[in-house]
Amino acid sequence: MHKINEICKDGKSLPLSTEGNLRVVFLGVGSAFTKRNRQSNFLIIQEDHHVLVDCGTLGSLALDDVGLSVSEVQCYLPTHSHADHIGGFEEVALVNRYLSNSSNKPKMVIPKDYQDLLWTKSLAGGLEFCEVSQGQPLELTDFFEILCPKQMELLGKKVWSYKHGPMELILMRSLHIPDSAISIDDAQWCTGVLVNRRVWISGDTMFDKEYPNQFSRVSEVMFHDCQMFQGGVHASYHELMTLPNEIRSKIYLYHYNDNWDKPKTWVKDSDNFTGDPIKDGFLGWANQQVAYDFE
Ligand SMILES: [Zn+2]
Repeated sequence: MHKINEICKDGKSLPLSTEGNLRVVFLGVGSAFTKRNRQSNFLIIQEDHHVLVDCGTLGSLALDDVGLSVSEVQCYLPTHSHADHIGGFEEVALVNRYLSNSSNKPKMVIPKDYQDLLWTKSLAGGLEFCEVSQGQPLELTDFFEILCPKQMELLGKKVWSYKHGPMELILMRSLHIPDSAISIDDAQWCTGVLVNRRVWISGDTMFDKEYPNQFSRVSEVMFHDCQMFQGGVHASYHELMTLPNEIRSKIYLYHYNDNWDKPKTWVKDSDNFTGDPIKDGFLGWANQQVAYDFE
């Protein structure tokens, strides 16, 4: 059972703990270029453990919306190297190393396979020469304590698992970029997350029927990437409509474009759906700045 609860009532900050239940809070539900929402970054919280999955260019503003900052969030999980997902990590690194009173480094849950790529292609440019010690520039590990998930197999797929307090975080590769990729072997690093084998969040992904099909077997609620047009590197609403009813009925849509609530701009007369996800058999649009609580 899940419930959607209001957060930050009376201007209070979002607590980074729960009384035991699993809680998912999307700081944003928008696409990479959203102006009406925040980017699709989300907090997963259970008991006194939390993890922020992605921190995009608007990440620190999105945290501020719920009364938090990059020095309060102490555990991060980057899914892939697009700026709406990792553009805020330079700020996370700098604030925590140079401006925070805490001597603890923030933690980062990241499989070995992605560490080097994230550092050398994205974060090193702004971070490695903040200091030089004995001729050596800084490394990712100077800014973050790395928590390394273990590789395992689930549903016949290679996945990575990390036990974070009471939470089990399972990461699985998704088919996001380039748009020509037809298998994980041709795709660049990008992951979705399965939490406690109950809640599945696709991560950025093109439409890949097998992917939601497989994970629907172990998921109570699913959140799927969705865009309002076809083509490119995300799953379109049109394509998601081809999923079986029993799978659509578990899915909230997120990562949507700014015209999501104006179906006249993207639903064509020939389409056999309304553009209202509830009428079309989904659970609905995912909302930002509310809590999805799982008892
Ligand atoms: Zn992306």
